[in-house]
Amino acid sequence: MLIKRTPDRYDKLQILGGMLASDDILTGGKVSSGPHRMAYSDPRKNPAPGIYKASLPNGKKINLMRVMFTDFCKMDCAYCPNSIYVPRKRYAFKRDELADTFMELHGRLAVDGLFLSSGIAGDGSKTTQRLVETVEIIRKKHGFKGYIHMKVMPGASRELVEKAHRLGSRLSVNIETPEPDMMRRISPHKDLQQDILDPMAWINDLTRESSGGAVGQATQFVVGAADESDRQIYRRVDQMYTDWNLKRVYYPPFRPARHTPMEEKPPVPAGREHRLYQMDWLRRVYRFGSDEIDLAFDHGGFLSLEQDPKTVIAMENLDAFPIDLNTAGKDRLLRIPGIGPVSAGRILENRRNHTIDNWRDLQAMGVVRKRAWPYVVFPGQRPPSGKQLRLDLFGEAQDRRAAEAAAVSLPPPKSPALSAVMERPAAYQASGSYTSHECIPGSRGAMCAGCPVNPAADA
Ligand code: SF4
Repeated sequence: MLIKRTPDRYDKLQILGGMLASDDILTGGKVSSGPHRMAYSDPRKNPAPGIYKASLPNGKKINLMRVMFTDFCKMDCAYCPNSIYVPRKRYAFKRDELADTFMELHGRLAVDGLFLSSGIAGDGSKTTQRLVETVEIIRKKHGFKGYIHMKVMPGASRELVEKAHRLGSRLSVNIETPEPDMMRRISPHKDLQQDILDPMAWINDLTRESSGGAVGQATQFVVGAADESDRQIYRRVDQMYTDWNLKRVYYPPFRPARHTPMEEKPPVPAGREHRLYQMDWLRRVYRFGSDEIDLAFDHGGFLSLEQDPKTVIAMENLDAFPIDLNTAGKDRLLRIPGIGPVSAGRILENRRNHTIDNWRDLQAMGVVRKRAWPYVVFPGQRPPSGKQLRLDLFGEAQDRRAAEAAAVSLPPPKSPALSAVMERPAAYQASGSYTSHECIPGSRGAMCAGCPVNPAADA
């Protein structure tokens, strides 16, 4: 016998929390797999749905209740499983019900904060109003002072953005795609400027002008939904980081959803998302300029899936290398593939006490030798010219793109020092390794640990 019953708040939490599984906007957000400090006590469902492990901007890890107010949406975004195209039953919380559920879980130490989103029921302002009222109950009636991340719905009025700013710890508006014409193609009823960029600019004004309220904003794309290039995404990201001091941008890839107009569209290739995060890291943490990051895009405006953008930038800019590890400043060290902020800091600290002159020390400092070898020079070595580096890396090909396009085994490097330590001809791969010899091409015979033919080796 089939018993029908009205879904209770635990059912809703499971459904409306599960809907957000594809939302990337929480740093390191993951469905919590292990036992919670105290699992909430729904006798039917355990472990708790809708609860995710997340890292806060200050690095602290917390359990976050991550849920949609409703999965009903009147919009026609062609990629979205919540759009009007998808025929399925929809659910919604009531304001008190959602606030009470969160406070109950918080009281049981199952969650420390809230991430609240929604489909658009009514319009952007009405939906944002519901979210604001829910958070008002949590803040004012229950006195919760912890972390609350609120989505501001596209098309929300300035007045509601101000209210959300006063109540939230962090706000976000999903940009989805970089250009207005792309937005018209994939989401005909959204106006990129009016519905999304304007609210983002207001949030920026509020976070700069007032001392209380939300401390920053984030956003996310749906990468590949509008066939945009990585360069087009980067242009928009650069503008947002520059003008609005965004805390983070997220790059979830497009995946086709059943019943939507894009269900036949192939998913975004594996790895594209990862490359965009690496590009973002170069822009945001390493402070690479736009002229440098431009070097990472191919002729079609895409990042390489085979090599990380930092390596591609270095290979396109060989005249800036090799870099002397004992004199270079931190920003120069960070240009070397295989050296990140931690290893750069260790190099700076160690070289105060002694000269850095071998790979063993560098590897102990966290440098990835496989990636860094062509780009550094040790004391006593004659630095090779950019031309020599090009020969070492690409053989007779003029540059990286030509070598990749040829897709053939390249001849060994012309460097006489290197040729002298090679026992027999080896096929040099475009990836930068020999098939039959472990010498590092371009090492100029001075730094191969354990090399049987190189007397200078630090075996
Ligand atoms: S507005 Fe948001 S939830 Fe609604 S269809 Fe578009 S992407 Fe989906």
